[in-house]
Amino acid sequence: MKTDNFILDSYNKVGLFVSGGLDSSLMLYLITKEIKEKKSNVEFITYTVDQHGKNTKTHADDIIKVIEKLNDIKITNVKVGGQDYAHSDFEIMYGVLDALNRERFTEKMIDMIYLAATCVPDDLKNADGVPKRHPQSFFKVSQPWGELSKDKIVEYILNNNLLDLIPITHSCTVLGQGHCGKCWNCVERIWAFEKNNAKDSAF
Ligand SMILES: [Zn+2]
Repeated sequence: MKTDNFILDSYNKVGLFVSGGLDSSLMLYLITKEIKEKKSNVEFITYTVDQHGKNTKTHADDIIKVIEKLNDIKITNVKVGGQDYAHSDFEIMYGVLDALNRERFTEKMIDMIYLAATCVPDDLKNADGVPKRHPQSFFKVSQPWGELSKDKIVEYILNNNLLDLIPITHSCTVLGQGHCGKCWNCVERIWAFEKNNAKDSAF
């Protein structure tokens, strides 16, 4: 699992999309930890697509507050996107384009924007509402976990004593608060914890 080289020495400015879910919360934790450990001067910015009726920004802000404390770092968050597409993957991609477009008008050029998207596991590829995920990196957008499935994220969280992150994360795409247990994201999360024989404290 790629965990220790998000911030290259040649980078001046790096971004990350934070949704309040498990994957981006872990990546936020790892990137900010790396910035502190390397005493990096990189400018770091997070973006959140405030998805319609899903409290995405609130959930992202909650996790950012916790990680600011854990890693003793101040984290900037910018709301982007907001286009109401039928599919949440399209909403996120619109947010990415919005972020890149905003960055064109800032002083420091952005070197890389990270997306913490994981792949659709074979077990769930025929489940209702399966998302359209493309794990490839493109232009200034990197998806380092694009070939990993969510059970690997849960495994890393469990093995690295990051259990406090779990109850504040929110993955459901139907309910603004809590988890419905039925939407694809909930099903994926339940699957990932079951694979690890672990209990999900957010449910
Ligand atoms: Zn759900």
